[in-house]
Amino acid sequence: MALHLTFDDGPSPGSTPAVLDALAAAGATATFFVLGPSVARHPGIVRDALAAGHRVELHAHRHVRHDRLTLAELRDDCTRALDALAGAGASPSWWRTPWGRTTEATWTVADELGLSLVGWDADTHDWRGDPPADGLDRIARDAPDGGIVLAHDGLGPGATRADCAGTVALVPLAAAWAARRDLALTALPDPAGAHHPTAPVVAAR
Ligand SMILES: [Zn+2]
Repeated sequence: MALHLTFDDGPSPGSTPAVLDALAAAGATATFFVLGPSVARHPGIVRDALAAGHRVELHAHRHVRHDRLTLAELRDDCTRALDALAGAGASPSWWRTPWGRTTEATWTVADELGLSLVGWDADTHDWRGDPPADGLDRIARDAPDGGIVLAHDGLGPGATRADCAGTVALVPLAAAWAARRDLALTALPDPAGAHHPTAPVVAAR
């Protein structure tokens, strides 16, 4: 079994490199769901993550709820983000939407672009500044035998903290906990081989 740490809303020059360092120290790989404009501004961080064996996947171009976008707008949003990702050497196969929200248009665009939607099992609530120990408690409660963990290496809309230091601090805590439970700390597998392709937050069509 595996524990899959995932980080949304980056890449962020103020925190993603520190997250990458913490993952390297733990011998772990993880998955980053990124924002197109940030990728365009910081392609080097994406390349560093890929070179270290992490996955870099699609979050959004504009961080908006899908029920506020038309099908054409959503398709355009995705295409812009995927262009930025391609420019940084990444070709996503997973898509975590903003707030995990989906509409019929989400599934249509996912099918068109060959993306698999993915949610999470355990939410660390790091975005609001909850202590790392609380994040670990939620992992232990909601993903006791492994699964997908939601955290953030960027400050998205609604973030109520000044930086991502708590997220960086959570990495070694999660790594030690996972090691005690014999859970490998790894990036998400390819969608085709995933035992856990869509965690509960993403509703079935
Ligand atoms: Zn987000």
